[in-house]
Amino acid sequence: MALRKIREFGDEVLNKECKEVTKMTIRTKVLINDMLDTMYEAMGVGLAAPQVGILKRIVVIDIGEGPIILINPEIIETSGEQTGEEGCLSLPGKAGTVTRPNYAKVKALNEDMEEVILEGEGLLARAFCHEIDHLDGKLYTRLVEGEVHDVNYEEEE
Ligand SMILES: [Zn+2]
Repeated sequence: MALRKIREFGDEVLNKECKEVTKMTIRTKVLINDMLDTMYEAMGVGLAAPQVGILKRIVVIDIGEGPIILINPEIIETSGEQTGEEGCLSLPGKAGTVTRPNYAKVKALNEDMEEVILEGEGLLARAFCHEIDHLDGKLYTRLVEGEVHDVNYEEEE
């Protein structure tokens, strides 16, 4: 298990456009495994490669139903709307209200560089949109209605 440092808000790498992955290499496989380890360790539901300082179009997601790996993902269809709290591992302890589509269909490549089509509703649709935005250097903060606020954790007893 190898953890990578999660880049935080203010780091320029988070505002850059990522490059397409053209072939699967050992190095990219290691990156994907490290991204999964890093996401689970941070208890996040998604992580994009620029968040660990790598400008490649790779996203990992797990909303509690197992890992999803997306390479060169594109949103090809959306519908509906959902408004809710959204956070990001690059802005620890913060959240904001963001409206996203309630359904999203994504075209991507899997780890074997085969084309896959995935559909998500609710949290998964939100995760698709949030993580794919990262690949274009976009953070959720630009979509927040009102202000980004501190997350209030319940006090431990
Ligand atoms: Zn994020």
